[in-house]
Amino acid sequence: MEERLDDVKLYINGEFVDAASGETFDNMNPFSNKVINRVAKGYGTDIDKAVSAAKEAFSNGPWGSMKVKERMKYIERIADLIEEEAETIARLESLDSGLPISQTRKMAARGAENFRFYSRMVQARMHGDAYQVDDEFINYTVYQPLGVVGLITPWNAPFMLLTWKVAPALATGNTVVLKPAELSPLSANILANVIRKAELPKGVFNVVHGFGETAGEALVKHPSVKAISFTGETRTGKRIIKNSADSLKKTSMELGGKSPLIVFEDADFDNALDAAVWGIFSFNGERCTANSRVFVHKDIKDRFTEALKARVQNIVVGDPKANDTEIGPLIDTGHYKKVTGYIELAKEEGCEVFQGTVPPELKSGNYVPPTLLLNAKNDMQVCQEEIFGPVMAVIEFETEDDVVQMANDVDYGLAGYVWTNDIKRGHRVAQAIDSGMIWVNSQNVRDLRIPFGGMKSSGIGREGGHFAIFEFYTEPKAIHVAIGDHHIPKFGMKK
Ligand code: NAD
Repeated sequence: MEERLDDVKLYINGEFVDAASGETFDNMNPFSNKVINRVAKGYGTDIDKAVSAAKEAFSNGPWGSMKVKERMKYIERIADLIEEEAETIARLESLDSGLPISQTRKMAARGAENFRFYSRMVQARMHGDAYQVDDEFINYTVYQPLGVVGLITPWNAPFMLLTWKVAPALATGNTVVLKPAELSPLSANILANVIRKAELPKGVFNVVHGFGETAGEALVKHPSVKAISFTGETRTGKRIIKNSADSLKKTSMELGGKSPLIVFEDADFDNALDAAVWGIFSFNGERCTANSRVFVHKDIKDRFTEALKARVQNIVVGDPKANDTEIGPLIDTGHYKKVTGYIELAKEEGCEVFQGTVPPELKSGNYVPPTLLLNAKNDMQVCQEEIFGPVMAVIEFETEDDVVQMANDVDYGLAGYVWTNDIKRGHRVAQAIDSGMIWVNSQNVRDLRIPFGGMKSSGIGREGGHFAIFEFYTEPKAIHVAIGDHHIPKFGMKK
């Protein structure tokens, strides 16, 4: 039976409200392409209201002056409530985004952990340094929250990615206006509900739904917003940086990727295979760190390709609500057209396209079968541009120098994966690849303490661990205190 849910409102100053314009837009189910509900469509006026509420909460509400321990009780309460509602979050996230439920369950759990982690991190690490300067001065630093921060998030792992920003923003004492992706609005309101239940002071957390060009731009340009943390496409990130220039905002950019996975001839074949398949086909291939370019040494290429083909034919393409589904539908028809367009382009560019199958009963969803682009060359357009679907290009290489050169010959630099049993080569290649994150003989598992982010066109700045706290959500302030006598030049004393 089709699931029709209550409409989605904005969350401003502790209340769920309609947009000032009264306008709404459809939220579509990627599995059926039917309407799930309608969503309040925010514009600049709604952003103004949300920013005013957040500013008031920061400057005059209890949040700004609250003791850290007390603030962390709220943060931990949010984590508890997410855990209590994890199954609902997983189910609605899967409905809204088309991600398989087995994966959204893990994302919901990670959402709770993001809050717990930042509660621990702020208590343990959010402190300054002191510098004794002989017996004349003591200089010290304190880290203070910025004020109102704007968070703009994408649709590909909506709940996990927004908690990844909201948790450090709130834990460090800021107040928040969140603009979630228009294609996946449900989980932002689940978080708003959780935050309401946790009884955070009103105005500390606000959500304005709407489109990027209107609600998003208004948030970016707002003079009272101190910083924008953005995750999304590189093109959008560039526009946000330009739009934030007039108000001199701090920005953090987590952008697209076209990450290489390199399999040397001595690699542990089965583990490399498992990691390559999971790395591109999990999250329906809509994964920023996906290994969309797989470089395989010529000595093992035929065997590895045959093994990939066998896996691709076996991957369970199904209803995202089903526990055993491995690939669900893409987020919307527009993205479906983009991904299938790239598969057609791959044929024109000379790739052999090998695909799994989509069961006929799924034809009303935005399904793209798991796809291999065989005999690909790194300079093809399909190997240079982010496709953001279940599509893996397989490229042969012969020498370490060649593969490093090809891995780096791309605009992006988010992630990379190296498989070899030669320890020296593993480290050497990891250090030679231009990307923010590299895994050696490992799939993409990440400890929350480690910095997350990319270089080149994949981003500016790092999230995660203490990096989010010190590099983004706080401002360091240096305080210089004289503790003894010191020389002060005297002007205007000459006769
Ligand atoms: P997108 O750039 O289209 O949209 C992201 C968000 O930006 C949405 O909320 C959208 O409404 C908003 N937006 C759009 N135009 C805007 C504007 N002019 N001003 C302000 N806000 C605007 O990205 P998407 O399609 O939702 O997400 C997919 C992209 O995100 C992929 O490129 C993927 O690689 C990237 N991504 C990166 C990471 C990372 O950590 N590096 C993680 C996940 C996704």
